[in-house]
Amino acid sequence: MMDAGTVSRNSLPMIERIHTVDVEPDAEEVAIAGHVHEIRDLGGLVFLIVRDREGLIQVVFKEEREPDLFEAVQDVGSEDVVRVVGEPVESGQAPGGVELVPHEYEVLDEAASPLPLEIAKDVDVDLSTRLDNRALDLRKPEVLAVFTLRSKLMAAMEEWFDEEGFVDIKTPLISKGGAEGGAELFPILYYDRDAFLSQSPQLYKQILMAAGYEAVYETGTAFRAENFATSRHVSEIAMFDVELAYIEDHHDVMDVQEESLRYALRAVAENAERELDLLDVDLEVPEDDFPRITFDEALDLLETEFGHFPEDPTDLDTKGEKLLGEYFEEQGHPAVFVVGYPDEKFYYMQDVEGDEIASRKFDLIYKGLELSSGGQRQHNVDVMREVMAEEGVEEANFEFYLEALDFGTPPHGGYGLGIDRLLQKVTGLDNIKEAIMFPRDPNRLEP
Ligand code: ATP
Ligand code: MG
Repeated sequence: MMDAGTVSRNSLPMIERIHTVDVEPDAEEVAIAGHVHEIRDLGGLVFLIVRDREGLIQVVFKEEREPDLFEAVQDVGSEDVVRVVGEPVESGQAPGGVELVPHEYEVLDEAASPLPLEIAKDVDVDLSTRLDNRALDLRKPEVLAVFTLRSKLMAAMEEWFDEEGFVDIKTPLISKGGAEGGAELFPILYYDRDAFLSQSPQLYKQILMAAGYEAVYETGTAFRAENFATSRHVSEIAMFDVELAYIEDHHDVMDVQEESLRYALRAVAENAERELDLLDVDLEVPEDDFPRITFDEALDLLETEFGHFPEDPTDLDTKGEKLLGEYFEEQGHPAVFVVGYPDEKFYYMQDVEGDEIASRKFDLIYKGLELSSGGQRQHNVDVMREVMAEEGVEEANFEFYLEALDFGTPPHGGYGLGIDRLLQKVTGLDNIKEAIMFPRDPNRLEP
């Protein structure tokens, strides 16, 4: 007799089974199903370790106890999908402390062999081989953990914004031009016209501020056609975008980012223990206020502490971000805002003092990596047109946006956060591609 509550976690009619982690040693009989993770053949005794999404369980086939099942299991292969009905018994050696004495054994699907990639054994394979065989690589418990953690992280992030009254939006991925235009765009053929994949939803978020939506967020996708070869860039990016109106200044935007990130990290620390364990991560939630330093202070700090001078004096370079990250992390601050870049882009609000220009732009550096860029936007269209003329930006590409903002726009600001980078840093992965199920880079379009 099956134990009550042993059906799958929803009540849809599915193959009867429970998760391996839910197998209690005092149950009479349970059904489990999953992939064959490991096979240990000891003569009259076969141990199968079966893996489902939540964990592993050992099934012990004894020739003298269940000769028919023992015969059937002789043909089993790694990664076959099996279902076992059996009696749980306590066992010191088994993973999870419980093993199954089988009553029924059925193979739902056989796996081809040999496997091009080992799932169970901890062999060192380079990332490119892993990604070539991503379909199998994704089966590894520690890889699956990255993505179940991501799911929990983003659910918590969205929960924060939902509770704060932000509207969940969807902006187009196909556009006539880019947010900033230029070489970073992927051109596509749109019927008989040229179009581009979206680089950022920023213009649309701002149009929604003009439209009176007040506070919005979007879990979306952005495309960058840069020809990079780094451990922190990909061509298709998961982006979390936020925009809010009636702000006093960019500090209100930073407050939102700080609170929401802390909330999401706290949720992971509390609800993703198994994943953090599998990934061997000791996640510290930044409970203190994130330091907010000016761009000039960041430059001074890099010079005096590390003798480092970024090549471009109007931006921090990768090394600069890394050094700043280390400096603040040592003081217990994994996250730090750098505020007031001398960035003269037309869409940022500028603070001008004499001939010093500081834009109300900020970056969030988390564990030494730029996680997001944002700031207070310029909402006065006349000022924007002036700056565009000075900077030589083609107004025609932005006419739909400038027009939309011209009909009354509240002061507003926002940011775009790279979800893949956030996940990379939270899980302590070396390369951003490990934090993406099927990453895209200049050389990889498959799988
Ligand atoms: P970087 O200088 O690191 O290339 P960026 O300043 O060009 O980044 P933004 O336009 O500010 O990037 O995009 C907002 C956020 O999106 C970044 O802070 C980052 O987290 C993420 N992001 C941008 N480009 C990429 C990329 N090619 N791959 C992965 N994430 C990216
Ligand atoms: Mg940036």
